[in-house]
Amino acid sequence: MKTYKIALIKGDGIGPEIIEEAVKVLDAVASCFDFDFEYEEALMGGCAYDITGDPLPKETINISLNSDAVLFGAIGGSKWDSLPREKRPESGLLKFRKELGVYANLRPAVVYDELINASSLKPEIIMGVDIMVIRELIGGIYFGEPKGRTEDKGWNTMVYTRMEIERIAHQAFKIAQKRDKRVCSIDKANVLDVSQLWRDVVTEISKQYPDVELSHMYVDNAAMQLILNPRQFDVMLTGNIFGDILSDEASMLCGSIGLLPSASVGEKIGVYEPIHGSAPDIAGQGIANPIATIASASMMLKHALSENAAAKKIDNAIKRTLKEGYRTKDLAQYDAKEVCSTSEMGSIIANYAAK
Ligand code: NAD
Repeated sequence: MKTYKIALIKGDGIGPEIIEEAVKVLDAVASCFDFDFEYEEALMGGCAYDITGDPLPKETINISLNSDAVLFGAIGGSKWDSLPREKRPESGLLKFRKELGVYANLRPAVVYDELINASSLKPEIIMGVDIMVIRELIGGIYFGEPKGRTEDKGWNTMVYTRMEIERIAHQAFKIAQKRDKRVCSIDKANVLDVSQLWRDVVTEISKQYPDVELSHMYVDNAAMQLILNPRQFDVMLTGNIFGDILSDEASMLCGSIGLLPSASVGEKIGVYEPIHGSAPDIAGQGIANPIATIASASMMLKHALSENAAAKKIDNAIKRTLKEGYRTKDLAQYDAKEVCSTSEMGSIIANYAAK
């Protein structure tokens, strides 16, 4: 029997509620296989600041680096908004990603047939959408130097090195090989020198993956094409700022923010987390949708632990639960047979995942 060590970072707001349901489902699915989990909790965000005075205690990094993967809830809330920037929960999260070297953010945007009416786009446009946005996470304009501001001027610098582009491109091509074998690389090579380098390096790396078809698209056109004809995309490869914007746009094709998982991976340990925040407005009410976190746990099984069959079981359990009409409050108006609490939703999915 193999035991996987999982660092659990519940965080703030709805974080503890949704992580509890993901753990329920992970344990249920493990009962069908020859592995189990050993969880170790670690603090991050506002709750960590309240207890230790630091939104990212060193111990959290150590626990994470000593694990096979990190399952993360969400952090933040207005209670901590007036703290100095370096003490705020969000600073802890950015530092955490940098410390762990998670340079690739994987965000699948999959439209569930059962929730086809939950999207703001027409069903015939979004039916069958299955996109993986792969965003560079620890470089580009959010980190480039020089940056600064005076009273009358503000500036940031968009920098990518060959090495940074190569490693994210490899991730994209490898992931595409397991999907529909198409990568669309997004840039602004008609205007930006950094994007010209991006395009050249991605094209070079693509030669190592002859089975994957590469295309290039300018970011402004990509924003339009995502709304016009999202089914044309398989893997979208982007730099940090373009991916930040396009992955949010792609996620909204799917209905509720409570559905969408993500993985942040790199050379060391991967972090698996829902794309949403800590939702302080609904925390403690038992109405948060746990599906994004449960689907993140499925990504963890697949990408960090290579337990593909177990991941598939979770994905199928989520689909079955939605198909049978179980909905949390955020999706209650879309063909709900029964509206359930966070915990009931977790239990139904766990039950199906264990079959
Ligand atoms: P949010 O994602 O927390 O919430 C936006 C809206 O979506 C809210 O109405 C919320 O109730 C709803 N929502 C979010 N998750 C849901 C779920 N699982 N089920 C049902 N409804 C859900 O974004 P926000 O309100 O802008 O931010 C709240 C806090 O979260 C802020 O402090 C922000 O900095 C933080 N945040 C953290 C992360 C993270 O931890 N990775 C990401 C984004 C925002």
